Amino acid sequence: MSATGRALVTGGNRGIGLAIARSLAEAGHAVAVTYRSGEPPEGLVGVRCEVTDTASVDAAFAEAEQRLEGPVDILVANAGITRDQLLMRMSDDEYDSVVDTNLGGAFRCARRATKGMIRLRRGRIILISSVVGLYGLPGQANYAASKSALVGLARSISRELGGRGITANVVAPGFIETDMTDALPPDRKEAYLAAIPAGRFGATQEVAAAVRFLAGEDAAYITGAVIPVDGGLGMGH
Ligand code: NDP
Repeated sequence: MSATGRALVTGGNRGIGLAIARSLAEAGHAVAVTYRSGEPPEGLVGVRCEVTDTASVDAAFAEAEQRLEGPVDILVANAGITRDQLLMRMSDDEYDSVVDTNLGGAFRCARRATKGMIRLRRGRIILISSVVGLYGLPGQANYAASKSALVGLARSISRELGGRGITANVVAPGFIETDMTDALPPDRKEAYLAAIPAGRFGATQEVAAAVRFLAGEDAAYITGAVIPVDGGLGMGH
């Protein structure tokens, strides 16, 4: 792995993805982010991408690789959605859309990214999961299933491509201060905080710091790992 690379961050136009993209850029990597609507963030290469659509993923990679002037060697699969519902009431669409975005999207991006990485004989694949993947939460059967499956995806990639200088790891954030946590009712917020050993929600920059480390040269011997950034909430995973 050279000291700096070419990174693509899916869903990098806001939230955790944007913090990751900015942190990778600060570390000296050339960074492209995907976005679906509106404008891409200032100062970063933006490419449109719908991760549930293979043609869109392939086109986004082609555009990013053209604008970054070389193959992507750092993939951060961050795009994700929730559609919470109790299991008994969960529709096929609520299940399918979450699994197709969170797991299918990561699969499509990783598959496309490895083409260039195999030729380069180096690569970093970082999949953004969630503490909920291995912890479970009521109303999030679809989300937890999609996020825990990223562990199997990363570990299989590690075994398939470890010999080609490619690592694949999972970062599992806990509750991170975003629009989502801001909107929680006060009693739910208190209950979640009481369960977190660190006694606070995390910051997007704290997730970005773990991703930045995994993307760098110092993490060459870390693969198939699940790195929690959750203030201790999921201890024992
Ligand atoms: P946001 O809802 O703020 O952003 C989600 C991003 O994913 C957006 O850029 C969105 O694009 C993009 N996206 C969603 N669906 C698609 C799709 N089908 N195709 C392309 N892009 C898509 O999420 P967060 O920043 O909060 O979360 C980022 C990741 O971190 C997610 O995978 C989430 O599950 C995970 N996570 C978040 C936690 C939290 O506390 N916030 C905790 C644990 C994990 P657009 O702007 O176009 O909608």
